[in-house]
Amino acid sequence: MKLKIAGLLTLLVVALAVPLGAKADHEWMRWGARDRLVLEVGNNMDPRWHPQLEAAVAGWSVTDHGNPVRLKIVPGAGNPDCGIVPGRIEICNWDLGPTGWSGATWAEHDEQGNVTAMRIIINDYYHPDDEQWDRAKNRQWIVCHELGHALGLDHFDEAGVDLDTCMDYSDNIAPNEHDFEQLVAMYGRWRPSWNYWIRIGVAVSK
Ligand SMILES: [Zn+2]
Repeated sequence: MKLKIAGLLTLLVVALAVPLGAKADHEWMRWGARDRLVLEVGNNMDPRWHPQLEAAVAGWSVTDHGNPVRLKIVPGAGNPDCGIVPGRIEICNWDLGPTGWSGATWAEHDEQGNVTAMRIIINDYYHPDDEQWDRAKNRQWIVCHELGHALGLDHFDEAGVDLDTCMDYSDNIAPNEHDFEQLVAMYGRWRPSWNYWIRIGVAVSK
């Protein structure tokens, strides 16, 4: 199994690999899914992060823009080191000290390069639980941002340019329309499964 990390160091490598003026590819890694990307998010975060996780999951699961993504929060596997769970995103938080990154996403993938699992760690060292309420926006940004990586997206911008998406570095708290265009390009437009039609009671006859 191979691991790739979307942390600050690898991000710099990605940035250097993009020629100046070129439109950066917004894809980082791709799950092996088409027509929809339905994933469970194993929640191992402590309760003070739950509002941010719920908001970020809702933000990435909107039903417009043809968005192929639907995320659902489930209890985390509770692995002490936030271990990989096949077919799932696991998200955790703890204080890792001054690592240089406030959140990081690891991808596990198969020989074809298709993502098989993702793991997100938020570093509490950079999100101290103090009275500075402006940090709340930064907390929302980092959860939205790392979840975007876990869906396979790369950065839009790393220089702090405000592109109105949590996939830049300017504290935006939600994805934008272009993020969903990219997800559609990667996974196709949302198309309900047969199970979906059966569940909502649509009968098909010939
Ligand atoms: Zn990032």
